[in-house]
Amino acid sequence: MTNAWAQSDEIKTRPYGRGTADLLCPRCGSANLHHTGVTVYDRGEDRATVVETTVSGGKIKVDPVAHGAMNPSGRRDGLAIRFDCEGCGEEPIELTIAQHKGSTEIGWRYVDF
Ligand SMILES: [Zn+2]
Repeated sequence: MTNAWAQSDEIKTRPYGRGTADLLCPRCGSANLHHTGVTVYDRGEDRATVVETTVSGGKIKVDPVAHGAMNPSGRRDGLAIRFDCEGCGEEPIELTIAQHKGSTEIGWRYVDF
């Protein structure tokens, strides 16, 4: 059975210094998140096709796909940065950015357990 993706709009950080901060894991609060990949969802407004570009593990994958649930934007462009967390395991955690009307929305999605 596959666990469902949970979502959160609470972007918590811990001050690091010199104008930067450490991101905290939305599941366990650990500051030890490892950035493992990025996916860019390129979609013209309400287009049926999304160009999905993933950079991970030294490889680039580009696929035109049908608009679906993984694009964090319901109608336009989106971005997902994937992390593994030292504190709570290797189930994926993604920081998402979505274009929605005139705003940019940011949040987490992660496999909850
Ligand atoms: Zn964690």
